Amino acid sequence: MGFDRGMRLSKPSIGEGEKREVSRVLGEEFLGCGVEVKGFEEDLGEYFGGRGVVCVNSGTAALQLAVQAIGGGEILVPSLTFVACFQAIKAGGGEPVACEVNLESGLMDLEDVRRRVTAKTKGIMPVHYTGMMCDMGAIWEFAKQKGLRVIEDAAHAIGGRYKDGSKVGSVGDIVCFSFDGIKNITSGEGGAVVSGDLEVIRKVRDSRLLGIEKDTEARYRRERLWEFEVREAGYRYHMSDINAAIGRVQLRRLDGEFGPKRVKLWKRYRELFEGVDGVRVLEGAVEGVVPHIMVIRVFGGRRDEVRERLKEEGIGVGMHYKPSHLLERFKTEYKLPNVERLYGELLTLPLHVDLEVEDVERVVGLVREGLRG
Ligand SMILES: *Cc1c(COP(=O)(O)O)cnc(C)c1O
Repeated sequence: MGFDRGMRLSKPSIGEGEKREVSRVLGEEFLGCGVEVKGFEEDLGEYFGGRGVVCVNSGTAALQLAVQAIGGGEILVPSLTFVACFQAIKAGGGEPVACEVNLESGLMDLEDVRRRVTAKTKGIMPVHYTGMMCDMGAIWEFAKQKGLRVIEDAAHAIGGRYKDGSKVGSVGDIVCFSFDGIKNITSGEGGAVVSGDLEVIRKVRDSRLLGIEKDTEARYRRERLWEFEVREAGYRYHMSDINAAIGRVQLRRLDGEFGPKRVKLWKRYRELFEGVDGVRVLEGAVEGVVPHIMVIRVFGGRRDEVRERLKEEGIGVGMHYKPSHLLERFKTEYKLPNVERLYGELLTLPLHVDLEVEDVERVVGLVREGLRG
């Protein structure tokens, strides 16, 4: 791991394949949004069972352009998420409405969502927090009843499957992914919008390239449009061929290598924490999940002691997340008791594919020491 006795909280796994492909693309001397991005979109489209895919330069950009594509409006979103969701909703012309989460799972609480729907509500943004799936059956049914769009934040969840066995991204309304440096797969930086709604796909394709209509098609032929039309807001949010080259190799490693390894480590954590007083793992469906982060709740006000014990040993720790509704820019008038309680209990432990089961055992041992004080 190269960090002495220490351990990183998360990291990518970059092999010879990724390096070779980046070199090959550099050698082509076409470095923008071109044939490699097209190839990555085709690979992802196939992976998601033939859906439309647009690659962008971050997961945040994916969320923003998805919100813009549905026309903004109030979007119900759990407060316990990366602030990227809230910023993306605002940037996309929407208004984030912070929602409560379930105390045991940390996932969006649909009862609270129901209470917060108004005439201005346009959509829901469930977050598959840690990689565990939200109850999409119930969410889709509710959204259909109310005529709402659903933009899933699947930044943590690529490779995972819903209860019915279908892959996240292969069904549903709009699903957004992140390929930043520490996600289940990376393209360096990057993201994708996946949808069966071809109008959404068309809008996102144009808005990632300054709103220039059909510029994507020209770039995929290694050309550019000199005579064009612009009707909507647009940005420089396209993915580059260099990033796409990394992502394509990573995608090929997901199901056979990264997924099973993450599951193995995560399951070992869960076994070892069973029956440990003062700690609980988040609850949720386990089957089909490809976990992204290992989050525990530490009770009795001992979270900070446990965190310090791990830090003393050079173990990377985190806290996912500072609730968005407590941030100055997104402050709410109302309280979200479960989110606020979890904020005092959550601790994220190392999980990445270069760890071994023995590393997990060592971390859990240190957590137990921290609990005893
Ligand atoms: C990483 C992440 C994002 C944003 O993705 P970036 O590629 O970092 O912009 C959004 N939501 C969640 C839950 C994330 O973890």
